[in-house]
Amino acid sequence: MRTLLQKSGKNLFNSIYIEEQAYNYPVVRMVLEKYPDIPVITIRNYKDVFNRGNQCFQLQKHRQSLILAVKSSPFLYKGPEVCQDFGYSDFYYTSFLFNCIFDCEYCYLQGMYPSANVVAFVNVDEFKQEIENTLGEKKAYLAVSYDTDLIGFHNIIPYWDFLQDFFTQYSDINVEIRTKSANEVFYNEFLPAENIVVAFSLAPQEIIQKYERLTPPLSARIKAVKTAIFKGFKVRLCLDPVIINSGSEKLYEPFFRNLFMEINPDKLKDVGYGFFRMSKDFFKRIEKQKSDSQLYADQYSITDNIVSYPNELREQIMTRHLSILEEYLPKEKIFTL
Ligand code: SF4
Repeated sequence: MRTLLQKSGKNLFNSIYIEEQAYNYPVVRMVLEKYPDIPVITIRNYKDVFNRGNQCFQLQKHRQSLILAVKSSPFLYKGPEVCQDFGYSDFYYTSFLFNCIFDCEYCYLQGMYPSANVVAFVNVDEFKQEIENTLGEKKAYLAVSYDTDLIGFHNIIPYWDFLQDFFTQYSDINVEIRTKSANEVFYNEFLPAENIVVAFSLAPQEIIQKYERLTPPLSARIKAVKTAIFKGFKVRLCLDPVIINSGSEKLYEPFFRNLFMEINPDKLKDVGYGFFRMSKDFFKRIEKQKSDSQLYADQYSITDNIVSYPNELREQIMTRHLSILEEYLPKEKIFTL
């Protein structure tokens, strides 16, 4: 399997588009120094490129461009119901990046954006200002790697360099960085903090191989989990999305058992569990583009505009899976959706 470790320099991005107004930001200078060989195109506004009509997401995904842009408000969004809020009523997310360098077959971004190119916003201080204004006095849960993978992107733009000190000042904001990355250097480079949780998305290796193109294998992710725990980071495991098409359900029991042989469950903050699910509109859009995908050809049911497995099947499998997880973790540490 080809991973991002093999994709570097010239092969990483096809070209770099830069908004005229973005040139003065340190992030842009950093990227230009790092990738002097990638062609640069100056643009007026990122939407001129990103929102163009007739783009083919699937083709672009194999040869992404990077777009460096200045975001305008809003910088912060209220979390949607299809996502786990881990017990917080004030759940927000923010997007420093649109799109992702990984390529998961089940990813809803394929149905959400017109382009697979990665937009990286460079005005990080304005994001911080809005987070401070909106959440500064609140007890909130903030997902910062919500529809992308910030740690996976860290070697390209190290957003966390600009964020770590800022977030540690606001101990009532619980920050979640979700990742499939196995970049262990991250945990040596930064200090842990009580209010920062690294949430590792994990799945059976067969699922990773089949549906999570370009992501690191399970063994490498488990190694990164162990390093993060060893370095004192708060760690969440996200067993999400659970995929139960074509007999893959049987992969999960051995996966859970092996996982907790490798990782001491007492050292975890908590675990999230959820089935493959997606808004009906995104699903339909992706289904049209991915006519050869078994995942989108399978039978699902639709409840409240969300496509997922039929309720009865979900309940049956979840009961079985939770009974295994509860052998390792107390109920109150397992969050389901
Ligand atoms: S890692 Fe997350 S954001 Fe990136 S492609 Fe996979 S599901 Fe989408």
